[in-house]
Amino acid sequence: MSSPKQLAICAIGAVCIAGAFASLARADARPTDTYLDQTRERWEKVAKQIWDTPELGLGENRSSAALIDILQKEGFQVTKGVGGEATAFVATAVSGAPVIALLAEYDALPGLSQAAGQSRKQAVTDGAPGHGCGHNLLGTASVAAAIAANRERVAKKLPGTIQLFGTPAEEILFGKTFMIRGGAFKNTEAVLAWHPDDQNRVTNRTRLAVAAINVEFLGRSAHAAASPWLGRSALDALTLFDHAVALMREHIKPTARMHRAIRDGGMAPNIIPDHAMGEYWVRDVSVDSVNEMLERLRKAADGAALGTETKARVTLTFQTREPVPNDVLNTVLQKELDRVGPPRFDDTDQRFAKAMQKELGFEEAGMASAVMPFAQKNGGTASSDIGEVSAVVPLAELNTATRPLGTAAHHWAQTACAAHPVGYKGMAVAAKVLAAGAVDLLADPAAVKAAREEFAVQTKGKPYVSPLPADAKPVAPKTH
Ligand SMILES: [Zn+2]
Repeated sequence: MSSPKQLAICAIGAVCIAGAFASLARADARPTDTYLDQTRERWEKVAKQIWDTPELGLGENRSSAALIDILQKEGFQVTKGVGGEATAFVATAVSGAPVIALLAEYDALPGLSQAAGQSRKQAVTDGAPGHGCGHNLLGTASVAAAIAANRERVAKKLPGTIQLFGTPAEEILFGKTFMIRGGAFKNTEAVLAWHPDDQNRVTNRTRLAVAAINVEFLGRSAHAAASPWLGRSALDALTLFDHAVALMREHIKPTARMHRAIRDGGMAPNIIPDHAMGEYWVRDVSVDSVNEMLERLRKAADGAALGTETKARVTLTFQTREPVPNDVLNTVLQKELDRVGPPRFDDTDQRFAKAMQKELGFEEAGMASAVMPFAQKNGGTASSDIGEVSAVVPLAELNTATRPLGTAAHHWAQTACAAHPVGYKGMAVAAKVLAAGAVDLLADPAAVKAAREEFAVQTKGKPYVSPLPADAKPVAPKTH
């Protein structure tokens, strides 16, 4: 609903944006806000286009091409295939310091197909991928923000460069890590990032470090009824290992997480399986703790192999550290998030959100209607390969509400909201905060310098070492 004041502004011929953005005609609006309001429909179409063709990590051909096309039309020079990943790219408008970057993600998740705007589980195509983490919104908002900030840089004749990194395969948590190994971020001085969420906040010191291993057992095949004594079951070994992990959960720190999926448990019950494989992820607040748990898992795998007369093979598939905090950049994002304010969800949005919460058995609290105050610890306990980026360049991240309170990412609820006004409104706020934050940094070299000084203190004595094995190649897991 427009207020009388906003209607008056429309009546005298100022830019009048219908619907969600009408309430944004505010005194402290920035030129980047105005540009993003005026082009709102365009960005919603881009987000919908990516949502309509959900692509898994490293296969985001159409999604990355759509974003690259937009950036090139705006004069950005685009380099593709960064870090050996065909769908990774870096877009840069000009050269010159400071270099401020935004991050776009655009990969989907397997099995999370869901009809947009439905408050009940209803796949578009059963078993197909879907944007259950809202990366269609993430990539679109970052591209929109980069373009808005670059236009403002030109208009104000500001020094410096706006960069946009197209970062694939976030859901398999290594896209950015390969980009770093390929030389990306070398000349970048600060990075601003965002992620869809159920809250509006600056994320700080809560994302977890994570590592993933494939634990394989190699046994000896035999007929399960005619000559089982000749076989040595790889599945037995995996079962024993998995039980050891389950028992270990009592003896890990309360901040740690362990989870797994069994990828291969044998071909048929009447064949003793000579191969079994599980994918195990461990997380905690620090990469040191993650490494300690990995060592314990390796011992458990060896023990399971010993007890079943099989062989264990443990392969690290990816690792990403907890983000290095940067309170100088966090402050820039918080100031802009407070200025822009939370997404303006209307009664229809709130009804939709409450219907979804009712369906899921959650408190019917609707959509987040406030910005959380800055906190030294703020955010969820998921992980992201932005952790790796934060170890090579100062980085800060914000969340905006794109799904109902209490709902989670990696769920059909986020897919349903990611091509719906509740998602688009959160996306618009993120774009405005990122664009204004990037312009703030271009105009304030002292802030960039302070961010870099804080980064130097945080990383003192810890030169960046890639977690990737030397021969690692970016390959998507077969099962995804
Ligand atoms: Zn995500």
